[in-house]
Amino acid sequence: MEQLREAATPCYFYDLQLLRETLAAVRREVPENDPAFRVHYAVKANSNPRILGEMAAQGLGADCVSGGEIELAIAAGVPAGRIVFAGVGKTDEEIELALRAGIGCFNVESEPELLVINELAGRIGKKAPVALRVNPNIDAHTHHYITTGLEENKFGINLELLPGVLRVLKGLENLEFQGIHLHIGSQILTMEPYALLCERVAELQRTIEAEGLELKSINVGGGLGIDYENPDANPIPDFREYFSTFRRHMQLREGQTLHFELGRALVAQCGSLIARVLYVKEGTAKKFVIVDAGMTELIRPALYGAHHRIENLTSSEGEETYDVVGPVCESSDCFATDERLPLTHRGDLLALRSAGAYGEAMSSAYNCRHLRPTLYRN
Ligand SMILES: *Cc1c(COP(=O)(O)O)cnc(C)c1O
Repeated sequence: MEQLREAATPCYFYDLQLLRETLAAVRREVPENDPAFRVHYAVKANSNPRILGEMAAQGLGADCVSGGEIELAIAAGVPAGRIVFAGVGKTDEEIELALRAGIGCFNVESEPELLVINELAGRIGKKAPVALRVNPNIDAHTHHYITTGLEENKFGINLELLPGVLRVLKGLENLEFQGIHLHIGSQILTMEPYALLCERVAELQRTIEAEGLELKSINVGGGLGIDYENPDANPIPDFREYFSTFRRHMQLREGQTLHFELGRALVAQCGSLIARVLYVKEGTAKKFVIVDAGMTELIRPALYGAHHRIENLTSSEGEETYDVVGPVCESSDCFATDERLPLTHRGDLLALRSAGAYGEAMSSAYNCRHLRPTLYRN
């Protein structure tokens, strides 16, 4: 807190102790030498080098969605063999970079992408390890998750098209088939979609084996959610429940590995966006707290209607209802409407909690705005 009082704002604050406790909780469920389970970190959630360094120190692999993320993961100490490269639109340059680095697997999302990776691998004289990203068509939408696993989504290969793609793959000599990759969505708080995913994998496994291919690995993506409303009561997700769901429902063959790619669940709770109150403005119907952070620093409220818990770090007297808004010239630049806060004044410091995932990583320089130096609790 003392450290924050003098902070230049807006800035991100990361509690690296909480991050280490979170990773220790993961390691209690899945030790680094687990014979079958492999945990990767989805770098897109937060690519801060110190956070990546903590992931690498725990022996986590990295799930990357661009050449830039692959470079950062390697720089942070993640061995190339533990890096997977996903995404619907990999460029030739990124594929070459990944091939030369010797990454563990390309998660391929279409037939044309298979052909391009095969050709580029041939040119470089390497074999490319590939997994097929399959669209499992699991409707997580009815549960208001952020879904990616439905047929109308752009991600992955539709189930009916899979046998055809497998036949193409078998004819491509510079590719080495590793297995399948699925990711059903984000901020998932109940375990049934994951149990359903395990059933879907069992069916897929039969389809693929019928084509004469063997699955070395199964990658079930990420998506485990966190408690945005009560970050202090629930700072660490229930990893026991999550991993035990897979231990119960997934029947792995001898020697197969199961890969997890967690993003939000690992980093969201360790980060806060720290903002200073610029003005308290009385409208006719509303009172506005105008802060020096905006959608440029934390876009989730504007983009997904997400709510982050807001705390006034410097005042605790009284109570009032405010809309908390940023300075950016967009009506959507609003963090919260009708938020109950202590009486708030110009100069107060606010913390927007649970902002460690998809916060800083999605920040932009719109309006020529800039974040101030990041602070850490080490
Ligand atoms: C975004 C993403 C993840 C991580 O999602 P979280 O909800 O942050 O856990 C994992 N895998 C893939 C393929 C992704 O696109």
